[in-house]
This record gives sequence, structure tokens and C-alpha cells, in this order.
Amino acid sequence: MDKLPDVTLTLSGDAALVLDAALSRSDDLGRGPSSVPEQIALLELDAELERRLTATFAPDYDAVLQAARQRLVSQGGALESAAPPAPAGWMCCFCGQHLADAEAGVAELHLATGDGGTQALRCHSRCLRRQVHPRVPLL
Ligand SMILES: [Zn+2]
Repeated sequence: MDKLPDVTLTLSGDAALVLDAALSRSDDLGRGPSSVPEQIALLELDAELERRLTATFAPDYDAVLQAARQRLVSQGGALESAAPPAPAGWMCCFCGQHLADAEAGVAELHLATGDGGTQALRCHSRCLRRQVHPRVPLL
């Protein structure tokens, strides 16, 4: 398999500085033999941040970092408004992907609620197949 193309990220300066600080002190991130690739990826990200950030060499680094942290928290409300609106209609109850109205391979589940009602859930047939034991026949 070919090497994947590079990915370019754009972060606010505040987010980059706070992320760099978190990566620099996170010795416990990515521990364990299965996490070696993750650890290498985190080191690559940390090195890239260090290369681009000039504030890490500022004599008042701690104050700069603290101010960046406070700005991120105060802007936290912007995260929700920045998120794309949830698409109208249904989503697969297993994978969370939006289900188009005319999409083929969609199943509908009706769950009986305790009060005699039902709750309808929709899902990809393939997602349902993955969740149900292989010996259980599905239509
Ligand atoms: Zn699905």
C-alpha cells in the first residue's frame, strides 16, 4: 500500500500552543506495545508544533500559555456553533452516518418501549449485520 498523502492542519495559535504543551508533558500518552504507532504520530505532531511555534521560546512562556488556555476556554462556546448542523432525517443507529431518504440497504428497527409504544431506529443493513450474531438469520 502506498504512503498516504501529507495532511495540512490549520490551528489557532492558542490551540497550537496548548496542544504542544499537552504533548510535551504527556509521558503517559500512548503507552503500551500496541500504541507505538500512535506514539510516533504524536511525536511527529509535537515536533511539527515545536518547529512552528515561536512562543515556546518566549521568556514569559508560562504567562503566554496561561493566556492562550484562558482564551480557548472563553471561546469554548464557539465550538458548538462551529460544528456543522446535524443533517435532517435519520442517522444509522450503529455508525452514526446520515441516511439519505432513498438510500438502499437501510433497515428499520422497532423497539417496544415499556409503556406499549415503539421507538423506530434506522440503520445500514451492513451495520446491523455486523452487530447481530452470524447464526441469527436476517432478511
Ligand atoms: Zn451504519
